[in-house]
Amino acid sequence: MGTSWSVIAHSPREIVDPKAVSESIAGLLATLDGRLSNWIDDSEVSRFNRATPSTWVPVSADTVAVVQAAMDVSARSGGAFDVTLGPLVDTWGFGPGGARAAPPPDREISGAGSLAGMTRLQVRDNPPALMKSIRGLGLDLGGIAKGYAVDQVAELLQGWGFTGYLVEIGGEVRARGERPGGGPWRVALETPPGTAAGTGPVIPLQGLAVATSGTYRNFFEADGRRYSHIIDPWHKFPVTHTLSAASVIADTAMLADAWATTMMVRGPEHARDLAIEQGLAVLLQYQDASGTRWETWSSPAWNALLPEQAPTPGSG
Ligand code: ADP
Ligand code: MG
Repeated sequence: MGTSWSVIAHSPREIVDPKAVSESIAGLLATLDGRLSNWIDDSEVSRFNRATPSTWVPVSADTVAVVQAAMDVSARSGGAFDVTLGPLVDTWGFGPGGARAAPPPDREISGAGSLAGMTRLQVRDNPPALMKSIRGLGLDLGGIAKGYAVDQVAELLQGWGFTGYLVEIGGEVRARGERPGGGPWRVALETPPGTAAGTGPVIPLQGLAVATSGTYRNFFEADGRRYSHIIDPWHKFPVTHTLSAASVIADTAMLADAWATTMMVRGPEHARDLAIEQGLAVLLQYQDASGTRWETWSSPAWNALLPEQAPTPGSG
């Protein structure tokens, strides 16, 4: 998944072999990478991306679960979240094809863009399999797979008997129980760079997950413009709005991850509407015009979860 992970966990009874625990986590993550990553040539996703249309391609139950969740978020977001943008993400230089220093030519954008479409993707549970209706359709689960992996690591820790843990992969986090010493885990949200120094709000997290998506970590610049890895499926272009980061709290890290990406696709105004309409707990961080301050908006569901953090009117 091209990122780092960390786990903090504790248990009332002695864990006989902590090294075995971390090895089992690393093993699980390697397995999931080999299923969900389009950066690994023989992963399930990569093989599906090369497969012929109109035939079922057998995959694991993990891949089916992630694709089904992606379809659900896609439907609920009016198509903003779209895991069939693989070829387009790659064309823009954010896939395994390699980075770019300048935007691709128009015909490459329209060519790769024309291959996308969630309605061209079918999924089946039993036996687990995927099917595409056109040649060249390619999955990119980069906006959701890390969250799923967080959830799977959490389950693994559950199985080992841990009663409190904080699992993090590339900024997507899930917590259960209490932190060592008692009280909820405390997760500080990063503020986008160029804004006031320090961290953003600190979120007490117990039994929930939080994911953050931003345009400020993965991008290239050309001719004074910034091109981020979040792709607008309608314009086939990296998003151009002023939203710097979106955080979502949800029951699972998978949904938090997918919805955080979705908010970044939609941009500030639509993201607000979508968060309210879908009852999602969302925090949006904007850069103000001078680029020196960050401003936030939080949804009603976010404020209900974190009443002590709810902004006072006019405080920005
Ligand atoms: P990060 O990987 O930085 O944590 P995200 O969770 O927001 O950030 O995922 C961004 C990734 O999602 C992109 O690198 C790309 O692989 C994928 N992606 C880009 N645009 C979309 C989109 N419209 N719908 C679904 N996935 C997308
Ligand atoms: Mg995401």
